[in-house]
Amino acid sequence: MNSRKNEAKAERQQERLDSGFLAAHFPEVANIVISMMYNQKGIKALLRTVNFFPGSYAFFKIDCLSKNCVDGGFDLTQVITSMIRSHREATKGELSCEGNGTAADHSAIAYEVVIQYV
Ligand SMILES: [Zn+2]
Repeated sequence: MNSRKNEAKAERQQERLDSGFLAAHFPEVANIVISMMYNQKGIKALLRTVNFFPGSYAFFKIDCLSKNCVDGGFDLTQVITSMIRSHREATKGELSCEGNGTAADHSAIAYEVVIQYV
């Protein structure tokens, strides 16, 4: 583990704690489900589901699968906040890792977000 990576991880952890609870930001939201299909070079597709509840942190950045990835990941903040603003219940899309670093094996995701409102 290089120190830059640890540093980035600590920053991200702090950012998560600073983001506050979902209920505080979006009291109208009962539940958010993000389903992701990871596609990483050389590795077969991996499905991952992340659930958010009112007591969850309102932090919608998902990690890249690459071990060498620094500052990367998938930021669904924009997607989710605009969905909530327009009261949309479902959307789909694709994202590629935003990270730089030397990793040649950054992942990409096909995601689906489903939001239930109170
Ligand atoms: Zn990456």
